Order: sequence, then C-alpha cells, then structure tokens
Amino acid sequence: MTTRRRKFWGWGYEDQQPAPRELEQAAAASRERLGFVPAEVELPPAAEAIELPSPRVVPPPSLAAICTSDPHERALHAYGRAYRDLIRAYRGRFDHPPDVVARPRDEADVERVLSWCEEAGAAAIPFGGGTSVVGGVEPRVPQDAAVTIDLGALDRVLDVDRDSRAARIQAGATGPRLEEQLREHGLTLRHYPQSFEYSTLGGWIATRAGGHYATLHTHIDDFVESVRALTPRGEWESRRLPGSGAGPSPDRLLIGSEGILGVITEAWVRVQEPPRFKESAAVLFDGFERGARAVRALAQSRLFPANCRLLDPGEAALSDAAPAGRALLVLGFEGPDPVNGALARALELCGDHGGEGRERDGASEGAWRSAFLQMPYLRDTLVAAGILAETFETAITWDRFDAFVAEVREATERALGEGRVTCRLTHAYADGAAPYFTALAPAVRGGELEQWAELKAAASEAIAAAGGTITHHHAVGRDHRPWYDRQRPEPFAVALCAAKRAVDPAGLLNPGVLIDP
Ligand SMILES: Cc1cc2nc3c(=O)[nH]c(=O)nc-3n(C[C@H](O)[C@H](O)[C@H](O)COP(=O)(O)OP(=O)(O)OC[C@H]3O[C@@H](n4cnc5c(N)ncnc54)[C@H](O)[C@@H]3O)c2cc1C
Repeated sequence: MTTRRRKFWGWGYEDQQPAPRELEQAAAASRERLGFVPAEVELPPAAEAIELPSPRVVPPPSLAAICTSDPHERALHAYGRAYRDLIRAYRGRFDHPPDVVARPRDEADVERVLSWCEEAGAAAIPFGGGTSVVGGVEPRVPQDAAVTIDLGALDRVLDVDRDSRAARIQAGATGPRLEEQLREHGLTLRHYPQSFEYSTLGGWIATRAGGHYATLHTHIDDFVESVRALTPRGEWESRRLPGSGAGPSPDRLLIGSEGILGVITEAWVRVQEPPRFKESAAVLFDGFERGARAVRALAQSRLFPANCRLLDPGEAALSDAAPAGRALLVLGFEGPDPVNGALARALELCGDHGGEGRERDGASEGAWRSAFLQMPYLRDTLVAAGILAETFETAITWDRFDAFVAEVREATERALGEGRVTCRLTHAYADGAAPYFTALAPAVRGGELEQWAELKAAASEAIAAAGGTITHHHAVGRDHRPWYDRQRPEPFAVALCAAKRAVDPAGLLNPGVLIDP
C-alpha cells in the first residue's frame, strides 16, 4: 500500500495534481484572464529531482522510530506556503532544509526531542501544517543543525465539557480533523482561515490566526480558554477560566509566540453549536470608498455580520462577481435564531451609502466558502503560468482608512510595474478594518525572488509609513522582522527577549522568528 504524500512544492496531495495537459490549459487561461501575454507553462518538479545537503545530525536510537531524514520529508518541511516558498521549491532550491523531521506521538516524545536538540546544539522548529506565509517554519537558523518537530500525529479531541461548551484538543489537529471529531458531539469550533484544510490548532494559536468571519469571534484568541505547552525548562499550562484579571495573561503570551517559547501540545477551546440560520446578500457600490463607508456603518451598528467582505472593482471583476467598475460587498448573517431581520437592516444601512443589494439563498454562502478554500490550489496554477501572486494584509483605524489604502496601493503598483493590485476588506471592526491586498504580475522567470523582495519591501514600507500593522493575521515569522522590529515598543522587545531566555536559555526554539534574544 502506498502512502499519500503532500506536495513539497505546492498545496494539497501529489495525487490531486492535474495532468500536464490540464495544467497547461488552466495556466494559459489564467494569463489570458489577467491580460498577460502568453508564456511557457512550467511543470512542477519531480520528487526524484530534489537534491539536499546531507543531514548534519543523526537522532539517537531511542528517537529513531519517530525521526526521519527522508528527502521528501525534509523538502516538505523546508518551507511554508508563501509565493516565494513555492518558487524556491518549484526550482528545487533548498538552502536550509531541516536535517531531521521528528513526528512525536505524545508529549513524552516532544520532551525527548527537545532534550536531544539541546544536547546536539540543534535548532528546534515547531511545525503544524506548514502553511506559514512569513518564513515561520523555514530553518534559517544560526545553529549548525535543525530539527523540525511536526505535531501532525497529535490530532485528537481529548475531552468535551458540554456544561462549559469547551473542548480539549491536541495541537496538531487540522481544521477538518478537529471539526470532524467535534461534529460527533454536535459542536463546532467555527474557525475557518483560508488554510483551514492543512493548518492546525497549534499553528493557529502560535500565529494568532484569523478566520474568515468578518466580525465578532473570528480570531483564535477569542476561542482559547487555556493552553498547554512544553518549554525546554518545563511545562507551561494555564488554568481553564472563562475570564481572569490575574495579571498579564499566560495564554496571551503563548498566543502569537510563533514557536519561540515552547511547543504547544494542546489547548482547551470554546466551542459552539453550528448556526441554524444563514442568510446572505450581495451589495454593489460605485467604488471601494463608498463600500468601505457602508462597512464602517455596519461594523458600528452592532448587527455583527458573519461575512462582510468588500471587494474592490478589480477583485470583483476577476471573479466575474460584479459589473465592471463596481465594488462588491458579500454580506452574510448566521445564528441560532432567524437572521433575516438583521440582514434587512444591514441592507438598509448599505442603501444609505449608495449600495444596491440583493438577497441570495443560504446555499450561496456555502458556495462562497468552498471557493474561498479552493483558492490555494489556484495559486499553484498561477506559479506554473509564470504569474507572481503575492498577498499581504494589514489593519488601520477608520480615521486614516482612505488615505492609507490609497498610499499602500500606489506604492505597490509602482513597485510592481506591469500587473494589477487589488484590495478587499476581510475583517471589520467598530474602529477600523483589515485591508487585504493581492498583487498579480507576469513573473520575471528566474528573477522571481528579487521581483518578490522588491514588491514586499515597497508594500511593507508603505504600510509602516502610513501607520498600519505589518500583519493583521499572517504573523511575523522571519519575513516581517524588519518592520515588526520598528512597530513594537522597545521595552516590550526587551521583556519578550527576557521571557524567551528564561524558558529557552539555549535559544533552540525557532531562532530568528519575532526577536533576537
Ligand atoms: C493559502 C493560504 C491561506 C491562508 N489563510 C489564512 C487565513 O485566512 N488566516 C490566517 O490567520 N492565516 C492564513 N494563512 C497563514 C497560515 O495558514 C496561518 O499562519 C496558520 O495559522 C499556520 O498554521 P500551521 O498549522 O500551518 O502552522 P505552521 O505554518 O506549521 O507554523 C506557523 C508558525 O507557528 C509555529 N507553530 C506551529 N505549530 C506550533 C505548535 N504546536 N507549538 C508552537 N509553535 C507552533 C511555527 O513554529 C511557526 O512559527 C494562510 C496561508 C496560506 C498558505
């Protein structure tokens, strides 16, 4: 029996890859749709073509059963899934693959791997689904060797507390895996980042992930009741509480710690019954700014739409979702009770801002979500088609919103040259919103990494200069460091470094991410 393997250069499993002819057709169609001249289609690399430097450490016999230096596993764990990760893997460029991939079966295994890393002087990189888009799992480390700790085997729902509506879940459970187990109890976590299929609870907590719901409970922060992690200096487990005013929160320090403080092994999370009623609508606006004013009114209305995604005319046109020149607001409501009253009120508010709305059936919301979750597969086609496809996201308060979006868009367009930059709003708050930009351009074949670096620097500089955050939900990793270092308060950086040195004195956990202690 052969085991299914994930692609080391793209999204999904090897057996999900379209045949070369289909890929060529899809790639050619993508270029045509974007108005780019035809280009040769680049087929994905063969697994046998990977060449990696020899592993520099060998695990002790006691860990041999859970460790591997198999080239496919090392390549699969060498990168996350950002555009430039795909390019490097596509081209067979693996400068810093992990030497060993460990797959612990339980917490005792995690402890033993951490002890061995300390003895061997190897870096230890916690790895969930490897969907980082910020270089978070890439072993670019100062140590002479790196061991990736893949939590994938810790994927069970261990306990359900119905009274408190909470569940204890292992960190390596992916979105589908934890939802399938919660479904047996009639419950759901209801956290859907676009990487849902492969990303994990531990990864969500470590990166402060954002789900696709636009308002209220959508960040993983809101769902975490308590966290348990193993640090090189012992266990870090917070008490299960619905709320607590006892000093700075031990959970909050782990949420967003990106693997530098400990390996998260499990968490108690707040779960809920699936919503019974769903309603949605599409609203057209003459321009993004007018749509944004409606989103602001909605976010301040306390109606709390589940979906409130505003696409600018460029992005709406790409999916044929709106007539040329018009922005589209996808609006959805969900709840335990009928939500059509809330939808009607929301459409009225949109009307006050020039929006023309029409209700859609409940099924369209499901169709929207499944198209949303298919997007990562499309990105592989764009790479084959020689299209640079980069996304970056931020957040800004409403008072600076219009100027901010204009400045970031302009700087990105300038750096991109030929190509297009589109923007959507993914999350709406009473005091601001999260703009999410997509840049698409004909890739400079062979020079994609330089092209990407120039674009990334220009966009990030513009975000920093205009006062936005360098990331709203994609995390800091290694790639956002230069801008994160300028964004955070200096005393906070000193305190975080001290916390890291206290729990990881040898500095083995994910060095280079977030801080340099
Ligand atoms: C196509 C695509 C769409 C995406 N959409 C979204 C989105 O909608 N919302 C969003 O928030 N993000 C999104 N992301 C980014 C990414 O999926 C998130 O950052 C996600 O939370 C990472 O989870 P993971 O399990 O894959 O973690 P990994 O990529 O494996 O790791 C990410 C970071 O967390 C650390 N880490 C992972 N597991 C643990 C653990 N158990 N203990 C300690 N540290 C750990 C790693 O060391 C690393 O620093 C997207 C990425 C892609 C490629």
